[in-house]
Amino acid sequence: MKERLFTPGPVELPDRVRTVLQQQIIHHRTEEFQQAFREVRDLFKRLLESPSDNFVFFASSGTGAMEASVLNFFSEGDKVLVVNGGKFGERWLLLAQHWGLSPIEYKVSWGEAADPEYVKDLLERHPDCRGVLIQISETSTGVYHPVKEIGQLCKERDVLLVADGITALGVYRINPDEWNIDVLVGGSQKALMLPPGLSMLWFSERAAERLRNRAFYFDIKRELSQQQKGQTAWTPAISLILALRESLSILLEEGMERVERRHAAVAEGTRRAAQVMGLELFAKRPAISVTALYHEKAEEIRKSLLRYGVRTAGGQDHWKGKLIRISHMGVDPKDGLMLVGLLEVVLYKMGYSVRLGEATKVYSETLMEYRVW
Ligand SMILES: *Cc1c(COP(=O)(O)O)cnc(C)c1O
Repeated sequence: MKERLFTPGPVELPDRVRTVLQQQIIHHRTEEFQQAFREVRDLFKRLLESPSDNFVFFASSGTGAMEASVLNFFSEGDKVLVVNGGKFGERWLLLAQHWGLSPIEYKVSWGEAADPEYVKDLLERHPDCRGVLIQISETSTGVYHPVKEIGQLCKERDVLLVADGITALGVYRINPDEWNIDVLVGGSQKALMLPPGLSMLWFSERAAERLRNRAFYFDIKRELSQQQKGQTAWTPAISLILALRESLSILLEEGMERVERRHAAVAEGTRRAAQVMGLELFAKRPAISVTALYHEKAEEIRKSLLRYGVRTAGGQDHWKGKLIRISHMGVDPKDGLMLVGLLEVVLYKMGYSVRLGEATKVYSETLMEYRVW
């Protein structure tokens, strides 16, 4: 049976991306690669709608670019505010501790979003704070943090806003200048619809002034000077760079306004449908990249879905076994309809009072309401 992925990374690869990935490898110290890499950099600029050339790609998973942010913009002992509202917020905390920063932890209950008022409070109590580390979309809970509002607070102070946009890039229309983001991190295997192994890091002019050299492999200065010439310091993830040219083209051909609306429609359609079937929405301020649903029998539901060839993700840590996490990243709306339809079947057969066709109707109506259908 064909297995379909609805996991928040990796996500399924578009056919056009797969065509690129099956080509023979080319050498990276060639005019051909340089040309392709320059095109990728231009497309990435267009994705972010920012004229800035301050961004680099690393051959690493997303966590590599997170680590690079901690290493290149902060020094040992620097005070940073870490918003810890899930598994990935916790990763910022661990990275900051590992590299000897002095993190102040703002612990947010799983499922809740950061409160900008409280962030403001903390920044006022800690005027020596050098940065705020946060997720745009916290993939473990499905929460969308109010990063724009927090960006405004950081802008008014000498505080760098470091945003993990790994499940936000390619979903939301993000112009980091408008959002007042100083460091924006991305990864390939989420909404950029590539295999894992490529990460990216964009930074503001303000952040550029704080660049320091603490890393060897993740040395942003060194990479940037190479990458602006169409080269890389070390062997790049050649195939993934070539595939990124394709996936960025796919996104830009659709247009980021429509890409965001499609994700919003699929996410909202799935949520409304799930609630009709008695599942609970876990996130108080839900993201449109991933939906986390609470159900006592979450594991049984996920296993049943898998028997039909649909793979979702479960809860992590203390929410293990209690959540179903469904990715909307790169999802074709008709595939979202299939997932809702199978969820109906699964719950129906488990004996819940589900009327077949009711949730799918809600889903379809939502897609039409959002003018995606
Ligand atoms: C997936 C993910 C990461 C980390 O990614 P790896 O590629 O596994 O290193 C970081 N942050 C968020 C929000 C993610 O969803």
